[in-house]
Amino acid sequence: MALDFANTDIDSESDRSTDVLRSVEEFLAWCSYAGVAAASSAHTGLSVTEGQSLLRSAADVRAAIRIAVAALARQHGIDGTALRTLRSAYADAIGQATPTLDGNHLSWAWESGSPRDALSELVASAVDLLRDHPAGRLKECPSCGFVFLDTTRNGSRRWCSMEDCGTEEKMRRYIAKRAETRVRPMSPSR
Ligand SMILES: [Zn+2]
Repeated sequence: MALDFANTDIDSESDRSTDVLRSVEEFLAWCSYAGVAAASSAHTGLSVTEGQSLLRSAADVRAAIRIAVAALARQHGIDGTALRTLRSAYADAIGQATPTLDGNHLSWAWESGSPRDALSELVASAVDLLRDHPAGRLKECPSCGFVFLDTTRNGSRRWCSMEDCGTEEKMRRYIAKRAETRVRPMSPSR
């Protein structure tokens, strides 16, 4: 969920018309689609100012998640500003949460009905992921920059999806290789 949210930034990088953070309604619609439980129970409206503030926080959180995940995927340290953004958003989120029991585990739910609950749930899910992800399984697609969790048995996944970037990369390599073998015979005469 948190990774999907970080990836919405890639989708909208060049074309703002597809950005899920253009309006609170679009943000909530995306959250419902992505399975954020708090989004479906959000019923309290926000004033224009509150809405803008929510979208700003969501954009900051999204950027911070991306920076943190990319750093972990590359096994680098995480930028301090991104960590501070996540810490403060996480503190706010937990401050608004209702403790619940999920089987034998303590978990948090956001049930105030405010659209902000959806962001709280996303932030908590991001922190859980950054803290608990299995070593070497958080990855960044070398072709498109999508971040993903590698759940293959041997941890060998390189691309966000074999159908898209994997195939594209294979094709690129094939073309480059073919081009190289065609050029090579010409080289000695140059
Ligand atoms: Zn990709």
